[in-house]
Amino acid sequence: MLVLLVEDDRDLAASVLEYLEAEGFEADYAGDGDTAWQRLQATSYDALVLDLGLPRRDGLDLCQSLRAAGIATPCLMLTARDRLDDKLAGFAAGADDYLIKPFALAELTARLRALGLRHRHRQDLDIAELHLDLARRQASRGGRALELGAKEWQLLVELARASPAVLSREQLEDRLWPDGPPSENAFKMVVYRLRLALDTEGESPLLHTLRGQGFALRPGERP
Ligand code: CA
Repeated sequence: MLVLLVEDDRDLAASVLEYLEAEGFEADYAGDGDTAWQRLQATSYDALVLDLGLPRRDGLDLCQSLRAAGIATPCLMLTARDRLDDKLAGFAAGADDYLIKPFALAELTARLRALGLRHRHRQDLDIAELHLDLARRQASRGGRALELGAKEWQLLVELARASPAVLSREQLEDRLWPDGPPSENAFKMVVYRLRLALDTEGESPLLHTLRGQGFALRPGERP
């Protein structure tokens, strides 16, 4: 499981990273809120460990921006005991769990595993006004049901699971056609039909083509 640790206390961060790696986690690190935001735009993490007090952009602000952008990465907030009231604000901002400093490293990893499992088994995916009901295999955008063929549905789920990260055409083709693509144009047609169903006129596009990189599902303007 891939975790992003956002913590400006470098000594604490170093010991947390070392422990995470020893416990079999993969971990990235950001020392401030802006760096964390950039990493979260580029990579799909299984969980986020977020210090509340950070330079430039604090943990609450970051968490709020994430949820507003439709990024559902589970978030465990770290807070000092004298800022315990902030935990309530943390939950309002979209945090899933919290730990009071100082904490036992074993407790951190136990909570991360629980958060990651809950996230993975979630039956719904939401990206901005797009809603995917995985159990029923239904997608809707702002209440409008999307009519999707089997391949378009599969493409949408792959992109939604990875969101906001980019998946390359090769990665997507491998997942949609494990035995090799049936024809030169098959992938293009699936992307075309998904885009037609998903992004209608007047709506801001959710499906983005990033030249030379691949495809991403994310709210906001075309990058
Ligand atoms: Ca701090």
